[in-house]
Amino acid sequence: MTTLGIIGGMSWHSTVDYYTRLNEAVARARGGHHSAELLLASLDFGTVRAMQVAGDWDGAGRLLGDAGRRLEAAGADALLIATNLMHKVAPAVEAAVGVPLLHIGDAIADAAVRDGHRTLGVVGTRWVMEETFYAERLATHGLDCVVPDAASRQLVDDVIFSELTLGVVREESRAAYARVFTDLAERGADAIVLACTEIQLLVEAGDSPVPLVDSMAAHADHAARFALGAPVS
Ligand code: GLU
Repeated sequence: MTTLGIIGGMSWHSTVDYYTRLNEAVARARGGHHSAELLLASLDFGTVRAMQVAGDWDGAGRLLGDAGRRLEAAGADALLIATNLMHKVAPAVEAAVGVPLLHIGDAIADAAVRDGHRTLGVVGTRWVMEETFYAERLATHGLDCVVPDAASRQLVDDVIFSELTLGVVREESRAAYARVFTDLAERGADAIVLACTEIQLLVEAGDSPVPLVDSMAAHADHAARFALGAPVS
């Protein structure tokens, strides 16, 4: 079986979910005691977060690129960056290694297109909602994006970094996210992408008037299919 290398720890609360989901997918496909062949580089999120706040994306690219190189040297056949936001430095990671990077945007697009979606409401960190790197990747699959208004983007980003990446889940925040989902649906989104790998810890399908696309689940499932030799886009 293909060995997957996970660049994770961003935050570790979602890397746990990746680990579980990858193993479940392989166990389901292979049966018995089969599980995923995985290598993990779990970074110190305090270091990564400081680079985000400082805007040190070159440094972050080097940090994740080094992690990718270590995973490749240890035997990884393909890599995952287990966060949406840090795909901002995906080009630096791809340049640092000789194995494929299984991009989260492609995984989300696969799941969304399979379910017949066309316009996605994107809910994640402020860079994911406000910069072009994320929407452009989805656009290569024919998908359009709508994002929350400025006040809602601030709220969504605050909940991610003041609560979810610290392992805190609050009912008030779940209700606030549900209002953001409704607004996006009213503005044309036919599905909502949980474009941060911790948001599935907070919300569930019943919190949204339109279907949710869970980026962690889509990415892990996509990577498991790759590891099992099934076609992925
Ligand atoms: N896990 C989050 C994401 O998917 C945010 C944490 C981070 O990478 O900064 O974007």
